[in-house]
Amino acid sequence: MKTIQHWIDGAFTPAGSTRTAPVWNPATGERQAEVLLAERADVDAAVSAAARAFDSWGDSSLTKRTRVMFTLRELLVKHEDELARIIAAEHGKVIEDAKGEIVRGREIVEFACGITSALKGDYSDQVSSDIDSFSYRQPLGVVGGITPFNFPIMVPLWMHPIAIACGNTFVLKPSERDPSASNFVAELYAEAGLPGGVFNVVHGDKTAVDGLLENADVAAVSFVGSTPIAKYVHERATARGKRVQALGGAKNHAVVLPDADLDFAADQLTAAAYGSAGQRCMAVSAAVAVGDAGDALVPVLEKKARAIKVGPGDDPASEMGPVITAQARDRVANYVAGGAGQGARVVVDGRDLTVDGHEDGFFVGPSLIDHVKPGMGVYDDEVFGPLLVVVRSSSVEEAIALINANPYGNGTAVFTSDGEAARRFHRGVKVGMVGVNVPIPVPMSHYSFGGWKDSLFGEKHIHGPEGVDFYTRAKVITSRWPHVNRSVEAALNFPTAH
Ligand code: NAD
Repeated sequence: MKTIQHWIDGAFTPAGSTRTAPVWNPATGERQAEVLLAERADVDAAVSAAARAFDSWGDSSLTKRTRVMFTLRELLVKHEDELARIIAAEHGKVIEDAKGEIVRGREIVEFACGITSALKGDYSDQVSSDIDSFSYRQPLGVVGGITPFNFPIMVPLWMHPIAIACGNTFVLKPSERDPSASNFVAELYAEAGLPGGVFNVVHGDKTAVDGLLENADVAAVSFVGSTPIAKYVHERATARGKRVQALGGAKNHAVVLPDADLDFAADQLTAAAYGSAGQRCMAVSAAVAVGDAGDALVPVLEKKARAIKVGPGDDPASEMGPVITAQARDRVANYVAGGAGQGARVVVDGRDLTVDGHEDGFFVGPSLIDHVKPGMGVYDDEVFGPLLVVVRSSSVEEAIALINANPYGNGTAVFTSDGEAARRFHRGVKVGMVGVNVPIPVPMSHYSFGGWKDSLFGEKHIHGPEGVDFYTRAKVITSRWPHVNRSVEAALNFPTAH
């Protein structure tokens, strides 16, 4: 069986330890590979390689860095099909969905190709007599990235192209459940001319994560994953003086007002709830039907959920694949049972699904549960599967209050034909990313991505302009060349402009 290795200092490197974890094929339920689980020494070796590489990469020209990004972008285009197959085989999502995440990730590389503009400093002539001031930003050093299973290429691409284009070196600890896409990207970087040690991949679990959080040579950590781990990473790394951005989980509400085009809204909600089997941090998991919208909306949602073709990701006929593990499948099934037990109405029950020829795969069908209320587990928790709940609400204000009472604040959306109500909604919700008739409002690469409340710990959102700020620090220079004007005398008082 194939063993997936670390990529350290520009080459595949066997682990110092022999610990491994299985990598499943979620569509068949078969173990398809083993991935090495790094020990502290493996992480330290990767960080040392990155620290050595920083000496020259941190000093390399912007032209050299952007050339690597332009070439990487071309290689990501060239290998799109192969990458999509790797993602589908380990994650389970359908090929076209995998291509979607490759494209959205590639857009971050395109942003990094223009890092020259993002890194332009300021210059002020003559701030005092014969004194000029200017500022620029410099890289931090070694940056660590820790990423979740659900976007095995896009989420790491939110981080490393920007960090590296800014002059940092990078150690990625991807999800151990679908590790191969990261190794593929490491090889593409090498082909693009990135020097060894600038981008490293260590596979592993908590031991590897703790190794990054505790290594004194790691200057900053970007994390994306579930809220409890995001909180842990933020606390542990900030306590060691590191800069941290830790993006957590979500419960994304889509509010449907009675004046919305209900068929359009139902279509959008169906795609956003069940696409990628609901395993997206921006998936819509709660529809909030205002007034009499609910009675009209639920039958349309039911029809659309029942029509979804569930099957293996590599079958072009499949619209939705399996979930990531057998445990994830059982968790979703338990939430359906819990909702029913707490008095909600199960409209579509995904527990009964079987996929012919894939009886051992981790499949669970789309579920739709109506009349759900806060206090029920299926509403309060992030289920992270193909399960949409419908909550009834009497007004936009009540819907906004419901969203604001939720501990998460990643994404939300409103469906309406009333511009004034939409404006009231997007101004009133305590959520980082808001869609107006757009169900998954993931910002484009030239904006930054991030939630509020328990969906993000730290000050900076990820990628875009805030990503550049996160991976660099500012320097301001105040400069005088005394031979130009020697008449200025130094005084012991605090200097003021003159
Ligand atoms: P996860 O939190 O289990 O794992 C994320 C990373 O943390 C992985 O690399 C994993 O190896 C590591 N990890 C797991 N347990 C750990 C522990 N005890 N100590 C240290 N490290 C640990 O998340 P997941 O299941 O891979 O991904 C799904 C979650 O990620 C969902 O909650 C989803 O909402 C969230 N997510 C959020 C965003 C966002 O932008 N906010 C994006 C994608 C996914």
